[in-house]
This record gives sequence, structure tokens and C-alpha cells, in this order.
Amino acid sequence: MSSFSYRNGITSKGVGMKLDNYSSKSSSSFKSKVQSTGSSIRRSSTGSVGGGSKDDSAVSGRVRVAVRLRPRNAEEMVADADFADCVELQPELKRLKIRKNNWDSDTYEFDEVLTEFASQKRVYEVVAKPVVESVLDGYNGTIMAYGQTGTGKTYTLGRLGEEDTAGRGIMVRALENILAEISPETDAVSVSYFQLYMETIQDLLDPANDNISIAEDPKNGDVSLPGTTLVEIRDQKSFVELLRMGEANRFAANTKLNTESSRSHAILMVHVKRSIKGRNSSLSTESTGKTLKAPIVRKSKLVIVDLAGSERVEKSGSEGHTFEEAKSINLSLSALGKCINALAENSAHVPVRDSKLTRLLRDSFGGTARTSLIITVGPSPRHRGETSSTITFGQRAMKVENMLKIKEEFDYKSLSRKLDVQLDKLIAEHERQQKAFQDEVERIALEAQKRVADAELNYADALEEEKLKYQKDYAESIKKLEEQRAEKQEKHGQQKVKVGPANDGIDQKSNSELSTSGEVAKIKNMHQNEILLRKAAEAEVNNLRNQLTQWKKTEAARNDEISKLHKLVEDEAHQKARLEEEIAILRSQLLQISFEADRTRRNLDIGGNGELSGSLDSLIPQVKHQQPRDSGDGEKASMVKLFEQVGLHKILSLLEADDADVRIHAVKVVANLAAEETNQEKIVEAGGLTSLLTLLRSSNDETIHRVAAGAIANLAMNETNQELIMAQGGISLLSLTAANAEDPQTLRMVAGAIANLCGNDKLQVKLRADGGISALLGMVRCRHPDVLAQVARGIANFAKCESRTISTQGTKAGKSLLIEDGTLPWIVQNANNEASQIRRHIELALCHLAQHEANTKDMINGGALWELVRISRDCSREDIRTLAYRILKSSPSFQAELKRLRVDYG
Ligand code: ADP
Ligand code: MG
Repeated sequence: MSSFSYRNGITSKGVGMKLDNYSSKSSSSFKSKVQSTGSSIRRSSTGSVGGGSKDDSAVSGRVRVAVRLRPRNAEEMVADADFADCVELQPELKRLKIRKNNWDSDTYEFDEVLTEFASQKRVYEVVAKPVVESVLDGYNGTIMAYGQTGTGKTYTLGRLGEEDTAGRGIMVRALENILAEISPETDAVSVSYFQLYMETIQDLLDPANDNISIAEDPKNGDVSLPGTTLVEIRDQKSFVELLRMGEANRFAANTKLNTESSRSHAILMVHVKRSIKGRNSSLSTESTGKTLKAPIVRKSKLVIVDLAGSERVEKSGSEGHTFEEAKSINLSLSALGKCINALAENSAHVPVRDSKLTRLLRDSFGGTARTSLIITVGPSPRHRGETSSTITFGQRAMKVENMLKIKEEFDYKSLSRKLDVQLDKLIAEHERQQKAFQDEVERIALEAQKRVADAELNYADALEEEKLKYQKDYAESIKKLEEQRAEKQEKHGQQKVKVGPANDGIDQKSNSELSTSGEVAKIKNMHQNEILLRKAAEAEVNNLRNQLTQWKKTEAARNDEISKLHKLVEDEAHQKARLEEEIAILRSQLLQISFEADRTRRNLDIGGNGELSGSLDSLIPQVKHQQPRDSGDGEKASMVKLFEQVGLHKILSLLEADDADVRIHAVKVVANLAAEETNQEKIVEAGGLTSLLTLLRSSNDETIHRVAAGAIANLAMNETNQELIMAQGGISLLSLTAANAEDPQTLRMVAGAIANLCGNDKLQVKLRADGGISALLGMVRCRHPDVLAQVARGIANFAKCESRTISTQGTKAGKSLLIEDGTLPWIVQNANNEASQIRRHIELALCHLAQHEANTKDMINGGALWELVRISRDCSREDIRTLAYRILKSSPSFQAELKRLRVDYG
């Protein structure tokens, strides 16, 4: 069983029209891959994951083209009975001959030649299966049929084969293949099905939805159709049902539009999402000690395109379209032809934006998808013209080279969900603790108050009672004494009366003396009693005093307890502050992750992954429109919210945090923000540029250097910022970082930053004086092509600006600072570097240098003349080639040297 073998490895020179400017680099600059080094996994800030290949996950994959011949139909059996078929196939040689006339024919080679006897199964296996398998492995894939109406495109792709399973086409077989391979617990397949007619996109799964627009990621150009219905597929039966429904809707839509299916392009998009086990990225927060793992998902897309008939629309004429309509009908198809021509000829401009079809197929031709094209032809000699142009189309498509790229990313959504849960838990726990603590403090305070009040009350009562008792006792004693005194006085009075008659005076006197001494004794007794009572009272008072001091002590102890509790409250408040800081860190991580998720989401053409579930039985009530607002804006809104919550100043302040982890996260967040042009001004205003430069100076951490340099490189795209960077000693800092760094990615960022600065006319002299050129040259010690490309870009930028300044100075100008600083040998050595991006910059640099006579002597001595000659002859870019040629022709020194060496130039 033969199948297409995909050529892996070197891209034929010049294919791939990758833009070579910094902005396109910078959008991918954080997409560096993850490499497994031992057990640890290094993670880039956006976290897209590379395959496993050494320096880039992209592999070259040429568009494969098969040709299929339809058997004669009944009409042709009769009408062409006397004529031979216009094509002859040699399947074993993979050749097709098209007859020009009876004695002459042209021969073409294809990747596969399928005769009129080829079974649908075989066609699936050679054309579609390798693409489907590669989609299952995580790459995007395209299968497209091209050919004249009636040659079998729909037969090949869209047959349902319900009456005869052998007749099933590629769509049905592909889904069967995919459903058999994936595991339903972790993976998901969903499809959308739509048609493109006269530059309008109609949803074939929801006919009311008939003007869908293409969403385009402004950064990387990824396209998606957020407005199409996306249906999750669980089993084969429901998929066939869905195709049937799509077919019916297509028929109805075309009737309404007064056209036929052959004039519209039908596109089936299959989104495959698979989770990869075994590999994990980790994000750890020191404070919680936990490690959060982001699972890896592969989100690939299989696009199956049943194109409109390739014949010219005027020919069918009868459809009653105006000329404008006719032009519009053919617009997408002819734009596709133009794009494929441009790609096949490796031309600098590919008119992708000319039509909706070419925008939708951007990844399929010249992009990252694995693409198989099947061209269908009929046997009839009456259609030789159409057949021949179909073959030409196929031949050109064979020259299109794609760079396959795995669509793998960390599942930040689920990591973000995990982080959210953890954050919520922390917040809830914290709130619970605080509440319990406040309750306890309140309870103790209340109890203490109550006890003090009780004690005071008891004490006052007892005191009052004692006082009353003593007052009473005292009053009684006084009363008694008064009585006694009155009694005594009375007795005295009586005696005096008796003494009057003198005869019995002596008796009376002795009597009274007797009674008085008894009284005295009595009084003495009473006095003694009185003293005792007073002592008892004093003792009682002392006792009460003691009690009072005792109470006072207890109260002091209570106060002590209360102040302890106050301290506890303070501690708790500290802990709260710490937790809040931790929450801020987690938020900053969340923010970063949201950025990354947002970016990687946009990188992948997910086209909305709303989970529409269920089999077809319940399909119709379930289908929903995925309005663009639903997913994209929702995510953005939550990101903006987070950003507002954390705040730029807070993030910038985290750059100086004590915790190294926090600093790294913070600098990554700032770098991500700096990648968006809209944030750059805000960052610089808030002092972010100064902070980043300070970080470059003060930190020893390689990651921080790399990320900070990346952020500075992004900021250095703007002229005002370039001046600021220079004014703050940026060149010396970047040079120092360059001298100490080992990691190619760090060097790439630093070189990128300097390269940007090299593009500013006003800063040239200072840049050179601060050692910028030497720093660039120093970085070539790292042979990584990405670093070399940035160095080359810097040199080209510098040479360009210099050439502008010199041309205003005329002949007075001295020789180039680049030559002064010794870059020429490296330039010459790399002028024919096999990496096109390096070569291109250097070719430009050489042309700029060569424009000035002051440089020519050094260039001749350094061997640059030969490179210029080569560029003027071989450079694949015509503009550069012409430029080099013109310079060589117009420079007297170069002409003289060529003449001296007897080189015949011109
Ligand atoms: P297209 O989509 O290119 O306009 P269709 O797929 O509708 O062409 O094919 C036109 C007719 O030819 C259909 O009746 C189809 O059944 C028949 N046909 C196409 N290819 C084959 C084939 N390989 N074997 C048998 N019949 C075919
Ligand atoms: Mg068709």
C-alpha cells in the first residue's frame, strides 16, 4: 500500500514567506519551546510547547498532490465513443500524459496517480490518511479537492456511502478514523460545516446564520469563525446525520441564492482536542509549598474543502448572473490560484487577503498545516482545456512548502481554575479564622466586664451593711452611756439632799462611795467592751480592705488578659496582611496566566470551543451560535478585571520584591504587558523601563535577565523609548548582560533590543560609543541562528541609518563605524549563511555599506566585493539583486577592481 511520504528536514531554499522583521519575531519571541533537561522542565512565559526537535518544532512539509480520473459516464460513453480519453495514466510511474493531438502529449508527475478504477478506500488511504494521522498527532491538516464540475470532487470527499459502505468518501472515513483513535474521557472532537459563496459565509448547520464573518488575530493572523455552529461529535452515526443535514441545507441555501452547489465552496472543519499525559509544567508558590500542574493539550484542526468547480463561470452562462456577480463568484477561486502561484514562485508578496477563501486557507498553503490536494479530472477530450488548467494548478501546488508545527499548549484554563479554587479556599479560611477570633475576643471582654461589675456591687453592698451595723452599735453605746450618766447624776442629787441634816452624813457618804466604785468598775467594763468592739470593727475593715486589694489584683489580671488579647488581634492583622500579599502574588500569577492563555488561545485557531454535546437526536435544540462575545471578550474582561485589581504599580513594585519567585513572576507579567503596544506607554510612564534596567543591573538571575531583556526589546520598538533607554545607560547594561549570558534565548533578547536601537538615526554615534556594536559582535560566539539573525538585523539596521546620514554629508563622510568596529569579517563570513533570515539582513547590510566610496577599499580587501557580485547574480530577492547590481555598476572603485582582475561584469 503506497502512501504519501512526507519529506522532513530541509526546506527547499527560499520557500516559506516568513516575514523577517522584528515585530513578527517579537510576537513569537515568548513562544520558545519547552525542552526537557533531565527531569526539570523549562517553561517559557506563554508556555506553548515545542515538539522535541532540537532547535525548532517546525518541520517542513510540502503540499502533496494526487490526481484522480473519473470513469466515463453514460453521456461520454455515447458522445466520445469514437475518441480516445484526453488523458493517459501511468500509475506505477506516478505520471499523467495529456494528449495535445494524435501524435503529441505532455507528461506530468504527481505524488500519486489514481486511475478510474481506484477504490474510495485506496483514495482515502493515500490522500487523506497521512493528514488525519498527523491531525491526531497535534498538527493542523487540510484535504482539498480541485477540479472542473462533474469530475468527482464531492464523490471523493463527501459521499456518505449509506447504501454501500465501500462508496464512503473522505469526510466520513476521516471522522471514523479520528473517533477510533481518541479516548472519550480526555479528548474531544467537534465540527463546523459551512459554505462560501460570493464572498459570503453561510452556516450549513444553521441556515439562518448566513453572513458569518472571519475573525482574525491581529498579531499572528490566525483566522477563526466564531459565528459558526460547533457541534461536538461522539459517534459516527451522529456525524453522518450531521453531514446529511448540512447537505440538505446546502441544497436549500443554493436554491434560495439561485445558484448550484458547483459554484460554492463547502468547508468542513474538524476540531480535535487531546490531553497529553505524562508531561507537566509546574508553577510553585513558595508560601503554599504546593506545586500546581498545568496539563498539556493539543488542539489541532482538520479542514476538508470541496471547492467550487474550477471552470470559468462565463462558460456556464445560463445562470443569469450579472458580470459583477460573476466576478465575485470566481473571486475566491482565482485568488487561491494567485496565492499558490506566488508561493510556488517563492515571491515576496502572497495576496492572502484578496479573498475569504485564501484567508481561511492561510494555514493550509504556506502555513503550518499538513496539506493534501486531490485534483479531479474527467476523461472527455471535449474538456481538454479545463483538464489541462486543472493539471497546471496541481503542478504549481506541488511546489508549495509548509512548515508543520505542532499545536500544543499548556492547559492554562484548567490551571487557572485550580489557582482560583486555591485562592478561594485561602480567602474563606482566612475569613473563618478572623470571625472566630473576633467572637472569642468579644466573649472574653463581656465576661470580664460582668465579673468586675459583680465584684463592685458585692463590695459596695458589704461595705454599706458594715457601716450601718457600726453606726447602729455606736448609737446604742452612746445611748447606754447617756443613760448611765443620767442615772448617776440623779443619784448624786438625792445624796446632796440627804446630806442636809448632818446627823447621818457619814453613813450616807460611805454608801455613796460604795455605789460609785461599783459604777466605775461597770463603766470600766463597758469601756473595755467598747475597745474590743472597736478592734473587731477595725479587723473587719482591714478584712474588707484586703478583699478590695484582692479584687483590684483580679481586675489587673483581667486587664492583662485583655491586653494579651489585643496583641493577638494585632498578630492576626499581620497575618492577614501577609495573606493579602500572597493573594496579590497569586493574582499576579493568574494575570500572567490569563495573558498567556489569551495569547496561546489566539495562536491556536480554536474557533470557539463551546462544548456542544449530545447526539444528533437532541442536536437541533442544542445548537447555539458562538457569538464572538461569548468566549473572547469574556476572557478578556476577566483579564482586565484582574489587571485592575492588581494594578500596574503593584506589579511594578513586585519587581523589587524580596522573594525571587515573586520577582520572576512580576517581570514575566511586565514582559507580557510590554508585548502589547497599548501598554507600553503606561509601563514607561509608571517607571517600568527604569525598573527593568535596574533589574538587569542588580539581578544575577538568568531568567530575569532573559525576560527583562525581552521586555526592553519590546519597549525599544518605539522611538521615544529608544532615547530613554540610551539616556539611562541601557547600552552598557545590555552589553554587560550580553557578555555574561550563556543562554541563547537571553542573548537573542539582548541582541533584539540592541538591533532595535540600531534602527534610530539619532542614536548611532552614542550607541557605538557605548559599545553597542562590539556587544553585537561579541554575541556571535553563541552560534544559535536566532541570535545570529538578531545580530545581523542590528547590523543591517545600523548600516541603513548610517547610509542615510552619510548621504547627507556627501564626500566628507568617513568610513562606516561598523567597519571601524571590525564587523566586516563576520559580515563577509555570513553573507551566504544558509539561514535565509540571517543572509537577507547581511545582504542588505552589504548593499548599504557598498553605497559609500569611503568603505569600498576595506570591502575589497575584506572579500566583500565577491559577496556583492554573488548577491547581484544569485540573490532570490529581486529588489536586493538589482540594488547590488546597480551599486557595483556605479562605483568607480569596484569597477576598477573588477577590471583589474579582468572580471567581465555587466
Ligand atoms: P463534482 O463534485 O466535482 O462536481 P461529483 O462528485 O458530483 O462532481 O461527480 C459527478 C458525477 O460523477 C456524479 O454522478 C458521481 O457519482 C460521478 N463520479 C464522480 N467520480 C466518480 C468515480 N470515481 N467513480 C464513479 N462515479 C464517479
Ligand atoms: Mg460537487
